[in-house]
Amino acid sequence: MSNKTITLTDTLYNYLLEHSLREPELYRRLREETAALPEAIMQIAPEQGQFMHLLARLIGATRIIEVGTFTGYSALWLASALPEHGRLLALDISEEWTTIARRYWEEAGLAGRIELRLGDASESLAALCAERTLSPCDLAFIDADKCAYEHYYECCLRLLRPGGLVIIDNVLWDGKVADPRVNDDDTRALRRFNRRLLEDERVELSMLPVADGITLAMKR
Ligand code: CA
Repeated sequence: MSNKTITLTDTLYNYLLEHSLREPELYRRLREETAALPEAIMQIAPEQGQFMHLLARLIGATRIIEVGTFTGYSALWLASALPEHGRLLALDISEEWTTIARRYWEEAGLAGRIELRLGDASESLAALCAERTLSPCDLAFIDADKCAYEHYYECCLRLLRPGGLVIIDNVLWDGKVADPRVNDDDTRALRRFNRRLLEDERVELSMLPVADGITLAMKR
């Protein structure tokens, strides 16, 4: 099929940022602090954060669940899209990373809207589904262990209201999903996940070449 997607050179990417990114100074500071960590690659791109913020605003999200919080950059963008009474439930396994996150959430005045649950995200999600005490969510952002994406997705879909949105990160996985020479566990898991989503009649679907690839799945 002919490819109509523009090639994003560094020059063009910088143009895109210069002409659309409205990243608050505090967010930029967190991004820079995170960039110095060995796991810096796990940080989402700023334009992706802003895009997810817009999506949350578009659907009028008041309840968001985030699977994989890391140092809290995506949660800043998402929680700032919530109204005062809105809540973001953040799931992550790392005390170290989320200590950084909490510091910035406090400074941004968003700590009151964010509840952090530390632990294995698969277990936290399974518990949330079993509890049935959580109000239906409007939006879920999945960005943790790639081998557990299918499980996260199934749980999130159950926790979402009809019309709710799941955003899944890293679906293009640095191009490895389309490279038959690459067959590590994460790549194979993402391939299987992408294939399953295509066939999933429970959702409306769009895969976008934003950053490392994101899929939007709206629960029918
Ligand atoms: Ca990611």
